[in-house]
Amino acid sequence: MSRPLPHIGPKPRLGYVGSLIERAAEIRHDVAALAALRESADARAYVIGGELIVLRKTEAKPDPLFSCVAARGFAGAAETAFLGLVDGAPRFAVAIEPAAATALKADDAFEVTDLRSIAVRGLIEADHLPPLAEGKALLNWHARHRFCPNCGSATQAVEAGWRRDCPACKTQHFPRTDPVAIMLPVAGDRCVLGRSHRFQPGLWSCLAGYIEPGEATEDAVRRETREEAGIVCGRVAYFASQPWPFPPSLMIGCHAEAISHDIVIDRTELADARWFDREEVASMIAREHPDGFTAPASVAIAYHIIRAWVEDGVEFG
Ligand SMILES: [Zn+2]
Repeated sequence: MSRPLPHIGPKPRLGYVGSLIERAAEIRHDVAALAALRESADARAYVIGGELIVLRKTEAKPDPLFSCVAARGFAGAAETAFLGLVDGAPRFAVAIEPAAATALKADDAFEVTDLRSIAVRGLIEADHLPPLAEGKALLNWHARHRFCPNCGSATQAVEAGWRRDCPACKTQHFPRTDPVAIMLPVAGDRCVLGRSHRFQPGLWSCLAGYIEPGEATEDAVRRETREEAGIVCGRVAYFASQPWPFPPSLMIGCHAEAISHDIVIDRTELADARWFDREEVASMIAREHPDGFTAPASVAIAYHIIRAWVEDGVEFG
């Protein structure tokens, strides 16, 4: 690097990871033990209505935890799932109907908003984000799997919310997570960033796409980069992963070695894509870019993929 990069501050925490929850999967099938956990004095539940999270206003930060009785007492309460234990204290997630959550916005005792806003605004303690991601992803799966995809019969939640069984054809259905490859194509001191049609003005980020059946992560990285931006990539280096419960995805973060130069944008997928040099990207992270360009919010893995390249470069094995 020829010139010093702008100071980009301490490294923030990646959102939704580092869960303090011990999932205690061995308890899920134990109906009596689960009932005892629900009754215990230190049991607490998150209350989730579709995209909305219900928070209780306090004098400090809003509290996302309710007693199980209070959580089950909300109008429109549906499934309850056992998330696990935090220092032995049981944690549950209770689904309420999205319309019921929306109605609670009018109640001054609660703050009701979406998880993305909660995370980006730092509205609650960061340690609540992983269990909220777990609960939201799991309850979203329940809401979309009320009927058996095999025979069409109504399914029933079992195993503390970790399986749905079909009473007609006996098929067992398990919660699913959809893997997404998210990547930064790089060539030395330059990288390719893109803009989705739904991005706010000035925001640039990594390219991303769902990994398809029968496809390795590395192949998905190369395919998506070629399809969306026309860039051919060679070696791929895994960086980190992040649960992304919008809906239940797992973002698999990578750096990719770009071996072609010309960008050809798929306009159905991307609004724009272009090369940036390291100094310009550093100024975007520092929010000092002369045109107001910005990197993604630090809660998202894209920020960390980009920042790691800016600070440390990438070693392809
Ligand atoms: Zn069935």
